[in-house]
Amino acid sequence: MSAASSKEETVDINSKEVLISSDEIKKRVEELGRQISADYQGRELHLVGVLNGAFIFLADLARQLSIPCQICFLQASSYKDKKVSSGEVTLMHNLDLSRKEVLVVEDIVDTGLTLKYILEDLQQQNPESLEICALLSKNIPDKAPVPVKYVGFEIEDRFVVGYGLDFAEKYREVPHIACLD
Ligand code: 5GP
Repeated sequence: MSAASSKEETVDINSKEVLISSDEIKKRVEELGRQISADYQGRELHLVGVLNGAFIFLADLARQLSIPCQICFLQASSYKDKKVSSGEVTLMHNLDLSRKEVLVVEDIVDTGLTLKYILEDLQQQNPESLEICALLSKNIPDKAPVPVKYVGFEIEDRFVVGYGLDFAEKYREVPHIACLD
């Protein structure tokens, strides 16, 4: 698919279909927080947020945990200003996760290529454990086989924005998940 047309760039986000409301997100993030807190009880949890898209999800999730955690970020990009993955993943970080209990926090799993790449990269640091929590996971055929332990919502194959997810750096501040297509 091509880059945004000028029409898409000036779209009124309030006229777009709401796929997941802010209330639904809030409830699900609370549930995930409870589940993760129980699973990591007595362990030193390290949340690794994938920038930029996961910044709001991670901030809300961290505040739903009833256990202490440490928070850091890595930057991954594969979409640039397009609605389909370029297939090339660029990673930037300066993390030391050796022998740490790591939970990667991602906004959305589409093809799974980004997370596959991230897992391969972080595994080289020999963490004690390495799991993934994604707010959204798209139901698509031919997904890369990445084990996502915690999934907020399974969604159909639509291009979504809001709650941290962007299109050409817009709409991250929208409090719900909206369909842009
Ligand atoms: P994957 O490598 O799984 O195909 O893509 C993962 C990354 O692509 C996500 O972290 C996210 O940044 C971006 N992405 C995938 N699908 C969507 C989508 O529907 N909307 C937005 N805004 N980003 C997406």
